[in-house]
Amino acid sequence: MTKGNGEDPKNGSRMERFHQGVRKRTLLAKKKVQSITKDDVKSYLLRNAFVLFTVVAVILGVILGFSLRSYKMSYREVKYFSFPGELLMRMLQMLVLPLIVSSLVTGIAALDSKASGKMGVRAVVYYMSTTIIAVLIGIIIVVIIHPGKGTKENMHREGKIVQVTAADAFLDLIRYAPLGILFLIAGKIVEMEDMGVIGGQLAMYTVTVIIGLLIHAVIVLPLLYFLITRKNPWVFIGGLIQALVTALGTSSSSATLPVTFKCLEEINGVDKRVTRFVLPVGATINMDGTALYEALAAIFIAQVNNFDLNFGQIITISITATAASIGAAGIPQAGLVTMVIVLTSVGLPTDDITLIIAVDWFLDRLRTTTNVLGDSIGAGIVEHLSRHELKNRDAEMGNSVIEENEMKKPYQLISQENESEKPLDSETKM
Ligand code: ASP
Repeated sequence: MTKGNGEDPKNGSRMERFHQGVRKRTLLAKKKVQSITKDDVKSYLLRNAFVLFTVVAVILGVILGFSLRSYKMSYREVKYFSFPGELLMRMLQMLVLPLIVSSLVTGIAALDSKASGKMGVRAVVYYMSTTIIAVLIGIIIVVIIHPGKGTKENMHREGKIVQVTAADAFLDLIRYAPLGILFLIAGKIVEMEDMGVIGGQLAMYTVTVIIGLLIHAVIVLPLLYFLITRKNPWVFIGGLIQALVTALGTSSSSATLPVTFKCLEEINGVDKRVTRFVLPVGATINMDGTALYEALAAIFIAQVNNFDLNFGQIITISITATAASIGAAGIPQAGLVTMVIVLTSVGLPTDDITLIIAVDWFLDRLRTTTNVLGDSIGAGIVEHLSRHELKNRDAEMGNSVIEENEMKKPYQLISQENESEKPLDSETKM
């Protein structure tokens, strides 16, 4: 029923309540800003010290690496210099396998078979859809930008294709980690080939990969999270900074796994039964960044070879890139190795992988960061979709993990942005 002025009374009062809520929140936020004390700042810095150190370590690593490049260190000196980073990587290596096995066991043990089955299906559907979206973004971007114009003759080739073994796997990043990351990054920059070799085509290729990864990480994944959970994705992503920086520093999603667990469980409050169940699998098979990269790189190699791909071949690349990303281990440059599958499937020369090796160490870091983001957002989405089963199980065990309030919030997006929403929500309802 509508009023004489055409206004629905139900909607009208709902809008009024909505505006009232917004006004109260704004007032509260202002009050909060006014009352920030030195102690608040101190405790904020203390709480986030580890994240800040990690970010500072990356920045210092880049600065140190570039400043030391002019000293032309010998191979041995570079190895000594990178030693703290190497140490960190070895320590991480020791952790991954036990971590994956134990978390899967505890994750599955905490769920009944029906709940774990449903959760598993949701996770797999999420993994498959995001990987396919990533591959499509890679293909569209590389076809539009066409970084492989010209021939490959004047492009720099670097090294041979080196087999990456399981021994290269990196593990977790625990306490002295920021320092290790500093040396990992600085060491890599010192070691890096002269920038001069990165010619026009390779630079264009690098930019194309970055654009593709950004579209997936900054637009697609947050949008998906928002559409499914109706919560602010940036708050969620903010809680993942440490894991993302670790992925950037280590180029290994397996090595980042312990930090990803920590961020999701301790900062974002994602149910442990979900993280333990879906994260180890996600870190191994869900690699959106790698899938995007493999499809894009294969088409780039076709472009520099002036090899016209027909529709069937593009579909073949999409399928093999998806498979290759699933098969790639969560270790540095694993994607480069499984790319052989993609190239062979459409008859492209596998030797041409050497054309992109010069920039792969850098692009690997970016795709690993995208992989970790994809896994984490996946855990958030699966938790949201499985909230009823988790709650039922909680009721059985008398251990509520999902807050009652979470299900009742009328204006979830707004309320999530502000810690103070709970009392206000009940007020507006009255
Ligand atoms: N380094 C990536 C990861 O660990 C895999 C890749 O090489 O694409 O997630």
